[in-house]
Amino acid sequence: MLSDEPPSFRILLRDEHLQRGIDESGIGMWDLDLDTRALFWSSATRRLFRVSQTDPVSYELFLSLLQPEDRIRADQAIQRSITTGCKLDIQYRIQETPERSHWVRARGGIVTDRNGAPRRLSGVVLDIDDQKRLEVALRAREEHLRLILETIPDAMIVIDDHGIMQHFSLAASRLFGYSESEAIGQNVSILMPEPDSSRHDGYLTRYQSTGERHIIGIGRIVTGKRRNGATFPMHLSVGEMLSAGKLHFTGFVRDLTEHQQTQAKLQELQSELIHMSRLSAMGEMASALAHELNQPLAAISNYMKGSRRLLAANADLNIAKIETALDRAADQAIRAGQIIRRLREFVSRRESEKRVESLAKLIEEAGALGLTGAREQNVLLKLELDSECDRVLVDRVQIQQVLVNLFRNALEAMAESPKRELTATSTKTSDDMVELSISDTGHGFSETALASLFSTFFTTKENGMGVGLSISRSIVEAHGGRMWAETNDSGGATFRLTLPIAPTEDLSDVA
Ligand code: ADP
Repeated sequence: MLSDEPPSFRILLRDEHLQRGIDESGIGMWDLDLDTRALFWSSATRRLFRVSQTDPVSYELFLSLLQPEDRIRADQAIQRSITTGCKLDIQYRIQETPERSHWVRARGGIVTDRNGAPRRLSGVVLDIDDQKRLEVALRAREEHLRLILETIPDAMIVIDDHGIMQHFSLAASRLFGYSESEAIGQNVSILMPEPDSSRHDGYLTRYQSTGERHIIGIGRIVTGKRRNGATFPMHLSVGEMLSAGKLHFTGFVRDLTEHQQTQAKLQELQSELIHMSRLSAMGEMASALAHELNQPLAAISNYMKGSRRLLAANADLNIAKIETALDRAADQAIRAGQIIRRLREFVSRRESEKRVESLAKLIEEAGALGLTGAREQNVLLKLELDSECDRVLVDRVQIQQVLVNLFRNALEAMAESPKRELTATSTKTSDDMVELSISDTGHGFSETALASLFSTFFTTKENGMGVGLSISRSIVEAHGGRMWAETNDSGGATFRLTLPIAPTEDLSDVA
């Protein structure tokens, strides 16, 4: 037995079994005399502090064994207990080696004498290192999860079974305009316009009583409401989870505003294109008709004139009338030719509006318009564009019409191909021209087809019109370029066309 043991422990130490039991459990005991500042440590406490059983201990030694950052905090907590009489409960690190430390928790209280005067501060100390490490690991994982959730672009909102928001991600704050602290605790119905807003509680109750799923696990496009009252289209998918025995719902929200704007823009482009395509198809037909009908009309007019000459030698009384009739018929044949020519002029009268455009952007837009369904067909679109010659001086709608036609033809040609690859390449061929090639891995063309591809009404398709390529070539030529086709290494088709590069001073035109 130690001779300097304080009287309060003497009774305790009498019972050696109890003393050893407590020691073995790892719980250390300590006692500080408030008058003399003498400190007593049980053997378990000495083991925790890595101090031998015989070395003298003091309050100063105790402080010196703590990790430097914890010393002041521990000292202040102890002094506070001494002066106010409050319970002591602190956690601090014992510095084992310069690199290693371990966490302990000390609890204690003031012991008073018979007169109620504070005499000692006594208590226990125990190792909490494992628990602390677990806590740190848990906090790190929580932080990790929080960062993951913050970086996903979709807004995430967790609600409880009453619709009260429990978690509101950073993306949700950006999207709806409420801060995390404003949103948490409020009903999620504030994020929806009427009638959903007042019906949402009912939706939750109905789901919980019937189990009928309307949105959970399905995902839907719904309308959201921002803090400023503005509504917007959003895609919502909801998951359900049981956390700590309580039902929660997690909603992932994606803002569709931009998506819908893109869709609207594409639709606008598409209708522009359809309009232009119809006009050009009409023009092409009119010009073909004019060409085809011109000869028979000229022949009619010639026959009329010949007949008139033959009749001139005849003395019949009706001759004058017949001659007039023949003259009129010849005039009408000429007029028919003029009508057709005028129709052609009318259709092709649209002045082209040439502006500086980005070739890459034109191809991208045409891809969006012409390759609808390409993903389902597993078509890979490869762009190998030279950014040096991106600026071209063209009529946007007309060139898109050419590109969309090329893309659609390529898709059709590749429908049965095992490999479906579409490559758009641009190269500068001279200072003022860029050559664009569109290659596919489709069925390609026969020798005879290759010779007639660009002729009006040439088609090998059951429902084809055969005007697409001939219009395309006219458009490219009207831009000062050329357009031709060849068979490529994979046996598919490569269409090439050249377009004028925009002079550098025109760059200000680019939208
Ligand atoms: P349409 O598509 O209405 O037939 P086009 O003038 O666009 O009219 O095309 C004319 C013909 O050229 C097509 O019918 C087809 O035979 C051929 N053709 C066009 N593009 C391709 C291609 N990428 N691969 C193979 N053949 C093609």
